[in-house]
Amino acid sequence: MTLLLLHSELSKASFEAVAAARQLGSFCIGLVGADVQETANALAGAGAEQILAVQDPAFAQSRYSTDAAAAEALVKASGADVILAPMTSRWARALPGLAQRAGGRIDTHVVALQNEPNGPVASRWYYRQRIETTLSRAARPWFLLLDGGVAQAWSGTPGTAAVKLVPVDFPAPRTEVLGIEELSSDQQTIRPEAQLLFVAGAGWTKKQKDGQIHLGDAERLILGFVSQARASLGSSKSLVDLSGEGEKVLSFLTHMHQVGQTGATPRHPKGLATCCHGEEPHVVGWRFIGERRAINLDPNCGWARGKADVLYVADAFEVMAKVNTLLG
Ligand SMILES: Cc1cc2nc3c(=O)[nH]c(=O)nc-3n(C[C@H](O)[C@H](O)[C@H](O)COP(=O)(O)OP(=O)(O)OC[C@H]3O[C@@H](n4cnc5c(N)ncnc54)[C@H](O)[C@@H]3O)c2cc1C
Repeated sequence: MTLLLLHSELSKASFEAVAAARQLGSFCIGLVGADVQETANALAGAGAEQILAVQDPAFAQSRYSTDAAAAEALVKASGADVILAPMTSRWARALPGLAQRAGGRIDTHVVALQNEPNGPVASRWYYRQRIETTLSRAARPWFLLLDGGVAQAWSGTPGTAAVKLVPVDFPAPRTEVLGIEELSSDQQTIRPEAQLLFVAGAGWTKKQKDGQIHLGDAERLILGFVSQARASLGSSKSLVDLSGEGEKVLSFLTHMHQVGQTGATPRHPKGLATCCHGEEPHVVGWRFIGERRAINLDPNCGWARGKADVLYVADAFEVMAKVNTLLG
């Protein structure tokens, strides 16, 4: 039997995980939250044999001890030997410990699931998305954390679901979430759902044709474009590493923005690289970008060597100023 674990706040990843669970045949859903009925109703038509739940105000917060105890109670009550969950930060934190406690195994970053006669077969990448493998395991319970995009999200009409509440013992919480500090959506420049990835390279911080550095203009042009186009912002390694060397940098860039072999491998339909040379360790992070364009002064840069669909040999300061005017 398969158990799909979900927190009561549903997201696109939850509905993709529902679709993945449906591919494995019969399955139960295990809900965790302060109040789960509305969530259960939203999933009433998902085809689960049973909807189990643990419900307590303590489960409203992300906390290892309560999330692991909640999942443990649901795994026991369902008798499941294959346990799926979306790879959210909460499940990624709680389930490896539970798998260890239960004497089972866990695999993370599962990108596809198939139902085979001997049990599920999971696909995942190794070596930073260079090798894709499929794997099955004899060990049970087997926990699988599913990456976004694992399946086409399930959708169905809400109904009235019968929920079986499962009792759960959990230790008195020693940590309490007092609040969440997060960037406002305008300050948040990493947008996984964006249509376009805009990459800024180290050229933005280099001396330009007048012999001067124009950091203020660079910041204004980059942020202006990213905000107007609702694009996601990425960076080369050189640019984010500059801060560690005490050099003048673009203040809004962090290592989280780095795209490449030692950075992220984002998935966007289109990408535009600016002031970035297009070296292999960077471009390898563009593996899943559909259409690639670059702006570089150098007609012989890496992008020109088959790495971009279109290379504009031009000054990115001038091009982006014009583009921003057109957008504005
Ligand atoms: C093991 C290893 C792992 C690595 N991992 C990564 C990684 O994950 N991600 C990554 O990015 N790099 C990675 N690198 C580094 C990578 O090899 C490059 O050094 C880096 O990507 C270069 O960054 P850049 O293109 O921004 O800078 P530069 O190489 O300095 O290029 C700047 C470019 O800006 C252009 N330019 C300047 N002014 C303008 C202008 N006004 N208009 C248009 N163009 C202009 C220049 O022509 C130049 O091509 C890795 C390297 C190693 C050895």
